[in-house]
Amino acid sequence: MSIQNISLSGKKVDVSESKMTFWERTYLVNIAIGMWVTLKHLFMRKATVKYPEQTRAFSPVYRGRHTLMRDEEGRERCTACGLCALSCPAEAITMVASERKPDEMHLYREEKYASIYEINMLRCIFCGLCEEACPKEAIYLTKSKTMVFSDSDRTDFIYGKDKLVMPLDQAIRNTQVLN
Ligand code: SF4
Ligand code: SF4
Repeated sequence: MSIQNISLSGKKVDVSESKMTFWERTYLVNIAIGMWVTLKHLFMRKATVKYPEQTRAFSPVYRGRHTLMRDEEGRERCTACGLCALSCPAEAITMVASERKPDEMHLYREEKYASIYEINMLRCIFCGLCEEACPKEAIYLTKSKTMVFSDSDRTDFIYGKDKLVMPLDQAIRNTQVLN
């Protein structure tokens, strides 16, 4: 057997070297077939939407941007235990724990709190494991449709407490709804 005929993968295909006919050389038939395929798609249901004017319906289990929650008295719930960071598969969470001072009782619920709490949004995969791991119900993934704002600077994707902690007026509104 000649070496040219051996096919180790068994997928060898002999390419035909026959000459193209006159109609094949004009490509008119293939152009017409291509145009027919294009024309068919003009009347089909579009697979895309005009985002951001239009959005698709979100899944009931959708998880959006994180919020660091406050309690009913407006104090930060997070006690900087680090369980969220430990459970994060993307290693996106870092924090620095600090001790609460006597005059900060109205700011932080526990004696220990996170003076720095950061999530690297370029790493986060919005899996929700941080929320599951938190024993203080301090971190939630919200239904916010804007997950992360676009930017050209990587450092802007590291969200600190200024972006993560629930605004105080929102905590007040939540308490009013509960009462
Ligand atoms: S959602 Fe998942 S990946 Fe993102 S910070 Fe939480 S645990 Fe990490
Ligand atoms: S968010 Fe929850 S799990 Fe994470 S450090 Fe704070 S209290 Fe602990």
